[in-house]
Amino acid sequence: MATLTQVPNVKLLINGELIDSKSTQWRNVINPATQQVLAHVPFTTPDEMQAAVDAAKAAFKTWRKTAIGTRARIFLKYQQLIRENMAELAALLTAEQGKTLADAEGDIFRGLEVVEHAANIGNLQMGEIANNVASGVDTYTLNQPLGVCAGITPFNFPAMIPLWMFPMAIACGNTFILKPSEQDPMVTMRLAELAMQAGVPPGVLNVVHGGEDIVNAICDHPDIKAVSFVGSTRVGTHVYNRATLAGKRAQCMMGAKNHAIVLPDANKEQTLNNLAGAAFGAAGQRCMALSVVILVGEANQWVPDLLDRARSLKINAGAEANTDIGPVISCTAKERVESLIAQGIAEGATLVLDGRAPQVPGYEHGNFVGPTVFTGVKPGMRVYEEEIFGPVLCIMRADTLADAIAIINANPNGNGTALFTQSGAAARTFEEDIDVGQIGINVPIPVPVPLFSFTGSRASKLGDLGPYGKQVIQFYTQTKTITARWFDDSVSAGKVNTTISL
Ligand code: NAD
Repeated sequence: MATLTQVPNVKLLINGELIDSKSTQWRNVINPATQQVLAHVPFTTPDEMQAAVDAAKAAFKTWRKTAIGTRARIFLKYQQLIRENMAELAALLTAEQGKTLADAEGDIFRGLEVVEHAANIGNLQMGEIANNVASGVDTYTLNQPLGVCAGITPFNFPAMIPLWMFPMAIACGNTFILKPSEQDPMVTMRLAELAMQAGVPPGVLNVVHGGEDIVNAICDHPDIKAVSFVGSTRVGTHVYNRATLAGKRAQCMMGAKNHAIVLPDANKEQTLNNLAGAAFGAAGQRCMALSVVILVGEANQWVPDLLDRARSLKINAGAEANTDIGPVISCTAKERVESLIAQGIAEGATLVLDGRAPQVPGYEHGNFVGPTVFTGVKPGMRVYEEEIFGPVLCIMRADTLADAIAIINANPNGNGTALFTQSGAAARTFEEDIDVGQIGINVPIPVPVPLFSFTGSRASKLGDLGPYGKQVIQFYTQTKTITARWFDDSVSAGKVNTTISL
C-alpha cells in the first residue's frame, strides 16, 4: 500500500496546463475493493474556477471560428488514442470505481462511440436553406456554438458520461469546463489528457474538481451558457433549477427505478440470463440497471431458476479474472444498500436471496454486496420507492400486461424499461403505452447508440434535449435565421415599401 507521501494529487486542467490546486480542502480517491488511497482530489478554489472560465472564454474566440474539418480531425485522432490506451484506461477505471475490467472497457467503449460521432460533426451541424421565400429572397439558418459550456458527471460511468458531454460540445465549437465525480476522477482526467494530446487547444477543455460548492459556482457563473448534468434526481433537480434561474440552458439526466416485464411466452433461458446480468451487473450501479421485475402469470414460476443464476455470479475485485460483481463505490454506499435491505424485510417483503456480507478472500475490506432478491414487493415499500443503486432485485407480480404497464407508469421514474416476450402485438402495446425514455424489447439495457440521443421521462430527466446524438447539437448551438436579399445594380430601384412584407 502506498504511503501518504506517495499518493498523487489529481490535477486541475486549466488553459492546457495540468496544475496543482492551491486548495486547502482535499478528499481521498479510494479503491473500493481494498480501501487503498489511490489519490487526493482537490475542491477547486473560487480563483481556480474563475481561471478556468477565463481560459474557456478566451479560447472560444478562436475555437468558434476553427474550420469544421480541423475540429473533426482532432476527434478522429482522439478516438485512436483512446483505443490505443484502452487497457490502461480500463485498469485505472476499475481501480477507482470497482467494476470489472470487462465492464470498464464497456464504459470506455460506449464513450468512444460518442467521440466517433463527434468526428462527424460537419454533417450534424449543418443549417437549412429555403430558396426564394419571396422573389430574390432566401432564408437560411446557422447553428452556432453557444460559448462556455459545462458538464457535471456521476461516479458510475466515469469514462462514458464525460465522453457523452465534452466531445460533442467542443466539436460544435464551444469550449468546456468539466467537473467529474470526486469519487473517481482519475480515469476522467486521463481522458482529458488524451484529448489534449489529440490536439484540443489550450482553454478549449478545462477540468475542475469538487462537490456542492463548485457545482453551485458552475450553475451561477454568468459566463457559462449551458450545463449538462448526469447524476441523482435530488442533485439534478437542484442543478436544473439553479442553472435555469441564472439564464442557462440545462439538461439533467437523473435517477431511475427501471422495471422489466416478463410475459410467460418469453424465451426463458435468454430472459433469465438477461435479467441476472441487468439486475446485478456492475453491482447494480447502472442508471439503466433493471432493479424491478414484474412477472406476469405463469412467469412467476421462474423465480427459483432466476435465483440459481443470481447465486452463480462470482463476487470479487473487479481486477480479478472471471469476476461478475465487483464492490459498490464506497463504505457509505454499502451501508446504505444494507440498510435498505433491512428495511425491506421490516416492511414485509420476502428476502429470498440475501447478499449481505459475502466472503471475498483477499478482499476482506472491500465494499461488497452480493446479489439480493426480494419477492412480494409492493408500492409504498422503501425498497420499491427508492433507487437502491446496489445489486438488489425486487420481484413483483401482475395478472396482465396492462396491469404491469400501469405499475410502471405509476412509478415516478422513467429512465429505462424492458419487455420480454415473443409476441409482437404485446411489444407494440408496450412501446405505445409505457411512459419511459429508453425501451428494450428483449433487450435488457437499451442505452441508445449515438445516432440517437439518450432520453428519459418524468423524474428521470429535466430539460427538453438529451445528451449526444442529434438532440445535443441543438442543445449546444444557437440557431440564427437569416433572411437575405441581394440587390442587382442593373435592376432599377423600386419605390419605398412601408408594409410588413418581403
Ligand atoms: P450524485 O447526484 O450524487 O452526483 C452527481 C454529481 O453531482 C457529482 O459530480 C457530484 O460531485 C455532484 N454533487 C453531489 N452532491 C451535490 C450537491 N449536494 N450539490 C451539488 N452537486 C452535488 O450522483 P452519483 O451518486 O455520482 O451517481 C449516481 C446517480 O446518477 C444515480 O441516481 C443514477 O441513476 C444517476 N445516473 C443517471 C444517468 C442517466 O443518464 N439518467 C446515468 C448515470 C447515472
